[in-house]
Amino acid sequence: MSGIYIHIPFCKQACHYCDFHFSTSLKKKTELVEALCRELVLRKDEIKGTIETIYFGGGTPSLLTREELDQIFKTIFEHYTVAEPVEVTLEANPDDLTEEKIKQLSDSSINRLSIGIQSFFEEDLKLMNRAHNAAEAEECLTLATRYFDNISLDLIYGIPGLSNKRWQQNIEKALSFGIPHISSYALTVEPKTALDSFIKKGIVPPIDEELAEQHFHTLIDTLTRKGFVHYELSNFGKEGYFSKNNTAYWQGKPYLGIGPSAHSFDGTTRSWNLRNNSLYIKSIEKNELPSETETLTKADRYNEYVMTGLRTMWGVSVNRVEKEFGVKYKEYLLKQVQKYLEEHLLYLDGDSLLVTKKGKFLSDGISSDLFFLNL
Ligand code: SF4
Repeated sequence: MSGIYIHIPFCKQACHYCDFHFSTSLKKKTELVEALCRELVLRKDEIKGTIETIYFGGGTPSLLTREELDQIFKTIFEHYTVAEPVEVTLEANPDDLTEEKIKQLSDSSINRLSIGIQSFFEEDLKLMNRAHNAAEAEECLTLATRYFDNISLDLIYGIPGLSNKRWQQNIEKALSFGIPHISSYALTVEPKTALDSFIKKGIVPPIDEELAEQHFHTLIDTLTRKGFVHYELSNFGKEGYFSKNNTAYWQGKPYLGIGPSAHSFDGTTRSWNLRNNSLYIKSIEKNELPSETETLTKADRYNEYVMTGLRTMWGVSVNRVEKEFGVKYKEYLLKQVQKYLEEHLLYLDGDSLLVTKKGKFLSDGISSDLFFLNL
């Protein structure tokens, strides 16, 4: 099983917290779509086997026109073996989702929408500089549910000024649309973002980590009560609606990343395209791949497995660690986890190492302590 990720590096405006690669000038959109198609052709032999997921991320993929999407699909279907059915996700922002646009998307090969709602409250959206307003957040969901059954929405918690009460209201509002999948992330302050500078200047209060942790637990309690499975730290889905794309990624399956800044993985080698639209286009026009490559060491692969495994409900299989990485790694893992088992932050269920409810908010910190260094 393999997947294709396509990065659409354009946004209408820059959200204050974002450090992804995008440009707010759409001037090169046509040229970039040409280059994406050319990269798809150049790299068609890199992926062995059938494509089971296609994911348009960004940036803002809902800025693509119907013609641009058709051009990309035509290239994929001509040059790759695509599974039937294939999961095709498009990330979309509420301000792009008019009824006409949603209808167009539903008439294309897209069968899953991931909508960047983030909050249903005006003050949060303004603080984060999102391009949509609260009314658009609600309207687009009412419309999207008429045309799509497989919808995910994103919510952000830990926003300065977001009280527990308003956070609970955000979750309840999201649930009221009957959406089968919710992804939710803590607001993080990335270096050199506008949010980072506002906090340093005292314009925006710093993130209250304790409050963010309370939001996280409210989220888990509310969604699991409503029948969602907490299958990955930031992801909740009803049975049958887990993201196939993300699950494949967490399970270490190969994927091809197309577009500026996109990452690829073939099972042992990771590569990434440069983060610059003009240079990307120029390079692809010369049939040169604008990417760097690194071969993962055994320790890198073990560290990635531990980090992603602990984030999921499937956990880290101790037997798999021994089989794939050797007895030395297994012994190291069991030694390192000891204190977390005693502190009830981790537990063993048969062969699987899992985080407890108490450990969930700390899981990234715990996994870095289990990493194998200096090999
Ligand atoms: S829309 Fe998404 S990618 Fe674009 S600036 Fe906002 S968070 Fe970043």
